[in-house]
Amino acid sequence: MASVIPVELGFVSKRAPWKLKSKFFPSKLGGFPAWLRLNNLPDRSDITCKTCKKPLQFLLQVYAPIPEVDSAFHRTIFLFACDKYLCNKPFDNLNFVVFRSQLPRQNDFYSFDPPVYNEKLSSEPSAEKFQPVCCICGCAASLKCSKCNEVDYCSENHREYDWQNNHQKDCGKNVEEEKVRKNKGRVNNFLLPEYELVTETEELPSEDEPEKSDEDKMKEYRQFMQSSKAPKEMQDMPLDDLDTLMQFKDKAFSKFQKRIKLEPEQVLRYQRGETPLWASAEHVPTSGDIPDCICGAKRIFEFQVMPQLLNYLPLNPDIELLKTGKDSVDWATLAIYTCSKSCEKGFESYVKEFVWKQDFTNNETIK
Ligand SMILES: [Zn+2]
Ligand SMILES: [Zn+2]
Ligand SMILES: [Zn+2]
Ligand SMILES: [Zn+2]
Repeated sequence: MASVIPVELGFVSKRAPWKLKSKFFPSKLGGFPAWLRLNNLPDRSDITCKTCKKPLQFLLQVYAPIPEVDSAFHRTIFLFACDKYLCNKPFDNLNFVVFRSQLPRQNDFYSFDPPVYNEKLSSEPSAEKFQPVCCICGCAASLKCSKCNEVDYCSENHREYDWQNNHQKDCGKNVEEEKVRKNKGRVNNFLLPEYELVTETEELPSEDEPEKSDEDKMKEYRQFMQSSKAPKEMQDMPLDDLDTLMQFKDKAFSKFQKRIKLEPEQVLRYQRGETPLWASAEHVPTSGDIPDCICGAKRIFEFQVMPQLLNYLPLNPDIELLKTGKDSVDWATLAIYTCSKSCEKGFESYVKEFVWKQDFTNNETIK
């Protein structure tokens, strides 16, 4: 059956960085996270790779309010990933983490009315005004430079990185300047290049509607093969052999390819409550595979990140990678599942949601 809710496709687009700040509720890729709730940020220990124990990189955020839920007038989903090739295991989500944050229209951080686009006022309000934030990654900071006590870090890893690359030469010299430098002029290869994510409704060609069921297609195919139009040797073939002949080894993959071809640049597909477009019939979750939200409600599919997004991520010049010639992170699709009620837990603080990672099986690739 054709689904009722159309898919919103996400595309990558260049945008002035000041327009991607918290104030404007952006959907974006890379840069610092533009936090929605500006305090109670997730703890760095919750944004750490379960495999290598290093800080995860901020990948993207999607602004997705739910009008029916008062506490989700503003609502953003944040996705983090580990860039280490060795942490990327097929069909395993250990190197990803996703958070949900939401706010009612009347809240402690933003004006009741839509923001005015003005570059000078763009960085207010920001999370930095409410709690210390790491100068390397923009996540909640719990450490400071142990010498000058002026610069904030989320982890020992980022403190060390900043010392080696930036802070060593400035430590204790000029506190004011150091504060200005916080967001620019720092060597920082931890952040991914920043882009806006813009959305567009997917349009399906009318001849595809309504989509025939697999059973109907099979029936038609059999009828054709047994008709006089089919090659002679096939007309008398037993039905079972005909089925094999169809060679729809992975129907999911051909469907995936067909849908992507309509809009080859899509990096994201948003369709809350529907079914993801799986890249393969393998490793598709069954009901028990998706854990419930901490509030007890079921989680439902919300959006999926497509493999085309990998084209916007710089390759990690890791020795292991050079040996294998592979990308640092890889996926066929990342399906994000969130609380079906979009519960108020996401209003009190950042709530973890669930990522299901599907990889391409042998011989399938789409890049
Ligand atoms: Zn890792
Ligand atoms: Zn950090
Ligand atoms: Zn210092
Ligand atoms: Zn919930």
